[in-house]
Amino acid sequence: TGQLTIIATPIGNLDDLSLRAQQAISSAPLILVEDRRHAQRLFQHLGIQPKTLALHEHNERALAPQIAQRIAAGERIALLSDAGIPLISDPGFPLLALLRARQLPVTIIPGPNAALAALALSGLPSDRFVFEGFLPAKAGARRARLQALQRESRSLIFYEAPHRICETLADMVDLWSPDRAAALCRELTKRYEECLRDSLGGLVVLLQVQPDKVRGEMTLVVGGAPEQTRQDADADQLLGPLLAELP
Ligand code: SAM
Repeated sequence: TGQLTIIATPIGNLDDLSLRAQQAISSAPLILVEDRRHAQRLFQHLGIQPKTLALHEHNERALAPQIAQRIAAGERIALLSDAGIPLISDPGFPLLALLRARQLPVTIIPGPNAALAALALSGLPSDRFVFEGFLPAKAGARRARLQALQRESRSLIFYEAPHRICETLADMVDLWSPDRAAALCRELTKRYEECLRDSLGGLVVLLQVQPDKVRGEMTLVVGGAPEQTRQDADADQLLGPLLAELP
């Protein structure tokens, strides 16, 4: 019977490809890849040349019905993204939603993921957390999102691009607090992996002094709002409407 297999791939170090992932990729009759050239690197590493079909954010909605149909007809298809677990800030959701609606079989070969790797490495509370993926690119929308998260007490995980990290950190300092504990995890599993553990304010200064650190792939983990902030925010919410009533 047909089936989709979601396969996690490395987030940097190719040795992180699991044995099951290797076997599944090597034996898949058809592989959905996010970017053909990117996938090629992995296929070369494995010494294989599988049949691929590109599935990316621009065509995944249009392609999903056709792929679901092929699975319903008995095809075994694999899904990879450029790095880590497909569907986590990566393509695949329209297809999975369709397979779910049609009750078609799906399985997963789990593996590397930048968000969880960064959280584990951060030294920040890992018992409860929220994954926010990428913040909006536009300043207004980004600040609105950060404002909405101001009272979040769980650790927060963000994917961020090097050309936006300084602005994002500055917004967090401005809208939350410079004292919030954070960890900027760069280039995980790669040669220049590092985890900068500092306050939000400290990270802003650190990146100003060492602009060479504003490079590479990065995941930002921020500690949740302390109880006090939430009480203040609660008070603000109560006081705001009351003050508005005053003459
Ligand atoms: N699906 C992937 C996963 O499971 O981690 C995430 C894909 S998302 C498009 C790519 C973002 O993940 C990057 O912009 C960066 O924020 C983060 N990321 C990926 N690889 C990383 C690494 N080696 N170190 C730190 N962050 C990484």
